[in-house]
Amino acid sequence: MLSLGTLVFCISSVSLSHLVHATPVHEPHSHFNRHAFHKRNYVTPDQRSSSYDYVIVGGGLAGLVLAARLSDDSSKTVLVLEAGPNGDAVPTKINVPSSTYYDSLLGVAPYDWVYTTVPQPNAGNRNMAQPRGKVLGGSSAVNGMYLVRPAQVEVDAWSSLIAPNDKTAAETWNWSNFFTALKNIETFTPPLPDVQSVAGMKYDAASHGTTGKVHATYPAYMVPISSTWLPSLEGAGIATSPDSYSGNNIGGMFALSAENPSNWTRSYSKSAYIDTLPPRPNLHIITDATVERIVFADNLVAGDRVASAVEFSTGPGTPVLSVNVNKEALLCGGAYGSPHVLLLSGVGPKDVLDGAKVTVQNELPGVGQHLSDHLSAGVAFTSNVDTQGTIKSSGSVFSQSAEFNSFINSGIAYVNGSRLFDGDASFSTFLSSISSAVDSSAASLVPSQYDPVVQGYKAVYQTIASSSYPTTGLIEILFSINSAGAVSIQVGLQQPFSRGRVYITSPSVYDAPAIDPQYFTHPADVTVMRQAVRLVRLIAQQSPLKDALGEELKPGTAVSSDEDIENWLRGAVGTEYHPSGGCSMLPKDKGGVVDANLKVYGLSNVRVVDSSVFPVTFSAHLMTPTYALAEKAVDIILNGNTTPSGGSSNSSTSTTGNDKTGSTSSGASDSGTSSKTGAAMGRVSASWLALFVPFLAALLM
Ligand SMILES: Cc1cc2nc3c(=O)[nH]c(=O)nc-3n(C[C@H](O)[C@H](O)[C@H](O)COP(=O)(O)OP(=O)(O)OC[C@H]3O[C@@H](n4cnc5c(N)ncnc54)[C@H](O)[C@@H]3O)c2cc1C
Repeated sequence: MLSLGTLVFCISSVSLSHLVHATPVHEPHSHFNRHAFHKRNYVTPDQRSSSYDYVIVGGGLAGLVLAARLSDDSSKTVLVLEAGPNGDAVPTKINVPSSTYYDSLLGVAPYDWVYTTVPQPNAGNRNMAQPRGKVLGGSSAVNGMYLVRPAQVEVDAWSSLIAPNDKTAAETWNWSNFFTALKNIETFTPPLPDVQSVAGMKYDAASHGTTGKVHATYPAYMVPISSTWLPSLEGAGIATSPDSYSGNNIGGMFALSAENPSNWTRSYSKSAYIDTLPPRPNLHIITDATVERIVFADNLVAGDRVASAVEFSTGPGTPVLSVNVNKEALLCGGAYGSPHVLLLSGVGPKDVLDGAKVTVQNELPGVGQHLSDHLSAGVAFTSNVDTQGTIKSSGSVFSQSAEFNSFINSGIAYVNGSRLFDGDASFSTFLSSISSAVDSSAASLVPSQYDPVVQGYKAVYQTIASSSYPTTGLIEILFSINSAGAVSIQVGLQQPFSRGRVYITSPSVYDAPAIDPQYFTHPADVTVMRQAVRLVRLIAQQSPLKDALGEELKPGTAVSSDEDIENWLRGAVGTEYHPSGGCSMLPKDKGGVVDANLKVYGLSNVRVVDSSVFPVTFSAHLMTPTYALAEKAVDIILNGNTTPSGGSSNSSTSTTGNDKTGSTSSGASDSGTSSKTGAAMGRVSASWLALFVPFLAALLM
């Protein structure tokens, strides 16, 4: 007999694993632990050098891409400071894909930041969970492994926002160039014949890469109920997409998973970019090192502040340690970590900094603003056929095999407004009502007193309403079959108009930032999700899925009027784990934080490279765009700025030297040891040599 206690209602494929009666997952293959080479890149705080060319704040998804790629040049020294551990103590939880549901690191200290939002008045006044990976690999080490891509129109919307009058900047981030980067990050492996015959997925190999670091494939095993997904979607008027990876993702599909098909383990930024490295003495990684702030030199360069050092510590109340920055500080702390560190460093809105008693170093009202997130809720049914959860809980030999445990939920559909609102006419009426309310929405919803931020909200709002919203996926539908005896069909809001902010109330990095996504403040968002719940019920009535489903458990058939469904949603939704926007790439006069070169306005040698810079939301999970962003960032950092600064939405040109910014830094830092770059480099070379000669000797023995 099924009870609610046995269900796992997963969001973005990651579940409340403690609710499941989990059987032990098989021990990982021995090659899971083959980390001998990369270990030499780990150093203790005491072993650090006094300065590095690039100091990377956060060894998460994007941070490790930068670490590996920048240190490809042996003449450049690179340091990663990661707040969490390296993860080697919990290989099974990270590497075995099904651990995502049955043995995950979510909510587990010290691997999760375990953030919560401030109370959300339009979502039941709840403090809602905001898990984030706190481990090498960041959230890519703990996430649901879906590999999907944004739509062309969304990426082009982003590009048009950063550079309305600037062709070069626009081209850097347009779909055509981004599509190339999306392909280059991955090595695609087609589905096994058995898997394809069960799921019936379609794909076009030409849309994929074959030489990238991240593995993109389908699991080794497909749970048989998966065969019901695409035909049932079609019964509900959602056609199967022939290729959802080349710019148009509308329709039903099976998503690729970030798995290595040679051993069916998670492919994430650490396994892909760091564990594969040969010996590399110019890369240092310090784990359990929380960055407290960036320190700025007293002098300005071309009117901009210069980062001279980064301060970090190993825990609350421990001594503050410092490293000097020769060239650049690269913020890769993720959607919350990067705005947090900028604010603690005195870069942000004056009212927030004053309130937290942080001295203003560079007033930048957009820091922390434009916070957007996907929301998700699940319609759950009993099921009388085997799910992944049923097989898992059997404890059979098969349930403990690597093949079975490679299974990850991957049935998806992206649905546009016309389908959600039963036709172009009613969707057009809905869209007109949104478009005509831009000014009033901006006036009432933007959580900032600063005009550039309000103007930025309007610019983003108008762009989304006129470009992405009419055609792209407003809703993602996920087929979640990891619970025993139940199926949950999730709806995820992809184009929220509700935007909030992340801010600080204390000058200490050990006090969590205040996270306020302002969920459901814009009325369109709950309307779209309500329509999606109705669509899911229609899908559940289609053959062959309907034969596998029993009664509706959540929200239950009694919840049927528009008002009832919306009320249920307010109490049931949670994050789909895709926050972004707190360091938006927008013109400065639109509340932007970084320009098209990812440089923070007003700072000569600080960039943000992570999911916090996307100014629009995508109909996609955020791994692929963040990997692609990081790869493109490396090219920008190494090859010089490819675009003008983007300081104003009317600016046309202004090239800034790149990779040279740090070389102009000569001011004494608060930490007191910075000097001319040439001298610093000399010191670095000597200290690297001293540090690594013993390691090399040991290696040769
Ligand atoms: C539970 C969950 C499920 C998800 N599911 C999917 C999915 O299925 N598919 C998908 O595409 N995306 C998914 N995502 C989203 C995706 O993983 C993230 O968007 C992506 O990892 C963001 O990369 P990032 O580099 O911006 O940040 P992260 O990968 O989060 O890395 C940030 C790093 O910075 C570190 N850091 C932060 N502050 C500091 C500091 N002060 N000092 C030192 N270090 C610091 C953090 O510890 C972390 O390691 C999921 C996310 C979560 C949390």
